[in-house]
Amino acid sequence: MAGQGDCCVKVAVRIRPQLSKEKIEGCHICTSVTPGEPQVLLGKDKAFTYDFVFDLDTWQEQIYSTCVSQLIEGCFEGYNATVLAYGQTGAGKTYTMGTGFDTATSEQEQGIIPRAIAHLFGGIAERKRRAQEQGVAGPEFKVSAQFLELYNEEILDLFDSTRDPDARHRRSNIKIHEDGNGGIYTTGVTSRLITSQEELIQCLKQGALSRTTASTQMNVQSSRSHAIFTIHVCQMRVCPQPDPVRNPR
Ligand code: ADP
Ligand code: MG
Repeated sequence: MAGQGDCCVKVAVRIRPQLSKEKIEGCHICTSVTPGEPQVLLGKDKAFTYDFVFDLDTWQEQIYSTCVSQLIEGCFEGYNATVLAYGQTGAGKTYTMGTGFDTATSEQEQGIIPRAIAHLFGGIAERKRRAQEQGVAGPEFKVSAQFLELYNEEILDLFDSTRDPDARHRRSNIKIHEDGNGGIYTTGVTSRLITSQEELIQCLKQGALSRTTASTQMNVQSSRSHAIFTIHVCQMRVCPQPDPVRNPR
């Protein structure tokens, strides 16, 4: 699929606006984005170029439509996609991914994951509707989700309802393996079968909140925890039954 000069990994930089605290402290903004170029200048002369650069005033919707929307469309074609948010604590990872459920957010402020979930279920409904219009058997979809947290050397299963929150350091049954082709996969992870957009959002919320509470208790080390939310989509097309062969008698 990749064209010339195209790469399957793309890097976007998002510069978040200053927080009130930073404004009060009189912090200066030391970045400027070159108009029409995916380039950010640090200070006056240090230029860095990426696939995309989003300045202070970028909306969540712009991030989603530019960087993520086509990945969800690709999933319907059978491609895998990963969105990784990287940056120091306070950089805006949680805000951009849209998993900060401890504060209420407006629809406009919705981040990547809730938008991707809505897009996915919208795409499923659309494909079923189209098939119905054409009078053919619609595709069947099976959606499941996993939510893991990596904390130091530990893997925690945020969907494991039997997990004792006070015994977070107890080893989980999850194992990370590498297959013959160097692919990494896990075993022993709770997989939840999902039937609706609302259910998936609810699962994400529940897992994200169980993560936040725990990491608050962990205080200074909270920034060492990483979360991986995985959605598996299985699409099955029902082929029309061929005409039964007539008995030529
Ligand atoms: P991280 O998860 O990287 O530690 P957060 O997402 O929690 O950082 O962001 C830190 C603070 O900055 C939060 O209060 C968040 O609401 C705010 N913030 C981050 N990005 C933006 C943005 N693009 N617009 C407005 N506020 C933002
Ligand atoms: Mg965060």
